[in-house]
Amino acid sequence: MSRHYYIAGNWKMHNTRTQSAELAQSLVSQLKDGTHKYLVAPTFTNIETVSAIIEGTNIRLGAQNCAPEEQGAHTGEVSVLQLKDLGVQTIILGHSERRHIYKEDDALINKKVKLALKHGFEVILCIGELLEEREAGKVEEVCERQTVKGLEGVAVSDLGNVVIAYEPVWAIGTGKTATPQDAEAVHAFVRKVITRLYGEDAASKIIIQYGGSVKPDNVSALMAMENIDGALVGGASLKAETFIPIAKF
Ligand code: PEP
Repeated sequence: MSRHYYIAGNWKMHNTRTQSAELAQSLVSQLKDGTHKYLVAPTFTNIETVSAIIEGTNIRLGAQNCAPEEQGAHTGEVSVLQLKDLGVQTIILGHSERRHIYKEDDALINKKVKLALKHGFEVILCIGELLEEREAGKVEEVCERQTVKGLEGVAVSDLGNVVIAYEPVWAIGTGKTATPQDAEAVHAFVRKVITRLYGEDAASKIIIQYGGSVKPDNVSALMAMENIDGALVGGASLKAETFIPIAKF
C-alpha cells in the first residue's frame, strides 16, 4: 500500500495569535521525529504567525476555507491568492460547519475545490452524514453525492492533491466516535466511489481521513482499519497534550 498516514488539526475559530504561536511551537518541537504527514489549520488571522513558526518543518500549513472567486468585491471573504501569499499549502473545504451552519452546498464547494486545485493547493474535501441521514439509512447516498459533486470536473491528474475526510456530523465535537468498523465501512465505500470515478490506481492512492471526536485513546483502533489513512482532528488538536499522542499513534 502506497498510502501514508495524514494527521491534521483543525483549530477552527479558537485561539489568539499568542496561543496559536505557543501551540505551533510545541508541535514543532514534539513532532520533529514524527513519522506521519502533519497539518495544522489556524484561523485566517493567525495563519501568518503560525506560518513563520512551522516553515521548513514537517508540519504543513492549512486554511479552513477560501472564497469561490480569485479576487474582487467579496466582502468578508479570503482569496486563494492571499492564502498562497501566506504560505498556505492545503485548504479544508466542505467542512460540516461550513455546510450546515453557513449553508454551503455541493456546487459552491465544488467551485472552491476546483479553484484551490487550479492554484496548486492540496484540498481536504470533507464529507459526512447528519444523524437523521444515518438513521434513515442514507449514509452511502449522502457520502456518494458529496464526493461525486465535490469532485465534479476534477481531473485524475489533480487527484494526487485531493484528500477526503469522512466526518460523520453526529460525531463532530460531540464526544461520540464512529466505531472503527462503522467508519471503515464508509471509507471502503468512498474508495469504491473513487474507483468508479478515477480507476483503481487513483483510488488505491487517495488518502481518506476520519474525523469526529478522534482522541488519544481511540486513534489507534481507527487507524488500524484498512481504509482509514489518517485523522482530521478538531477539539483534541487544540492542546499539544492531546494532539501529540494522536499524531504519534
Ligand atoms: C472537525 O471539526 O473536523 C472535527 C473532527 O472535530 P472534533 O475532533 O472536535 O470532533
